Amino acid sequence: MIGPLTIPAAGERIAGRFTFSGDEGLAKYEWPYFAIRARSDGPTVLITAGIHAAEYTGIEAAIRLGRTLDPKQARGTILILLLLNRPGFYERSIYVNPEDNDNLNRLFPGRADGTWGERFAHRLLTEIITKCDHAIDLHAGDLIEDLVPFVIYRDTGDATLDGRIVRMANAYGARWAVKSAPTGERPGSLYAVAALNGVAAMLAESGGNGLLVEEDVVRHVRGVTNILKAIGSIDGDPDPVAPPTVVRSFEWLRAPAEGMFHRAVAVDQRVRAGDRVGDLTDLVGEPLATITATVSGVVLFTVTSPAIKKDGLLLAIGAL
Ligand SMILES: [Zn+2]
Repeated sequence: MIGPLTIPAAGERIAGRFTFSGDEGLAKYEWPYFAIRARSDGPTVLITAGIHAAEYTGIEAAIRLGRTLDPKQARGTILILLLLNRPGFYERSIYVNPEDNDNLNRLFPGRADGTWGERFAHRLLTEIITKCDHAIDLHAGDLIEDLVPFVIYRDTGDATLDGRIVRMANAYGARWAVKSAPTGERPGSLYAVAALNGVAAMLAESGGNGLLVEEDVVRHVRGVTNILKAIGSIDGDPDPVAPPTVVRSFEWLRAPAEGMFHRAVAVDQRVRAGDRVGDLTDLVGEPLATITATVSGVVLFTVTSPAIKKDGLLLAIGAL
């Protein structure tokens, strides 16, 4: 066992379900997972997806990896938790978990006696994540977000660990990378707290808008497969992929008022500081605000729904 996960005999794979027993709120749910155990020793690698329940390319890629990674060609153990936000999946929840309407990827390290999401984060971190050597968290743009593929990781200050993390991030094959610390980090993210607990952890983004686009799924499958080769978790030499360009900062633009957002830029578009990136109007079309780029760089993601609350997220620029 690793925490609540049953681990198969050497050379075997299991697809199963687990729960967090002893907690009535958490134990209402069963989470699907795969565990692949090789005959030879090697790292314990955790692949997670669906912490945002409508980011389907990550979930689908995790399922494919779980069904196809061959224990005979692996070393060590590979754990795949393909749908962390289990409560939100059939609800098609955007950003949050319907049990408490919090974003599960802002709650780590969680709390043993906290809200549903805090207790989930605490148990996931202490019982599973920290038992692993490596962690890869798969995302996409959410149900109302488009994005250009990128990876996110942070420095920990431990040169050996940071070297392992960069090796993983570079092996994914993304064009862009956000190195989130010291600027631009959203507090409480799974990958960041995992890294601060000594796990070589990173996040990868591919796809969006609630669509299951094959190319976006395949990018995640290939990226993860290449990382697994690079860290010696599966046999084979990694493909030589160009390392991503690391942006200088990750600037999130928010709406100064509620209204209709008329977007003027697309993902992967270059902008200069001060460029108009969209307009906000009220519900009879009166102009409320012109949204301008705060830095020069590349648009890494945009919201695609025009209905925006005050302080709602509009888009993000990776500074170049
Ligand atoms: Zn996400």
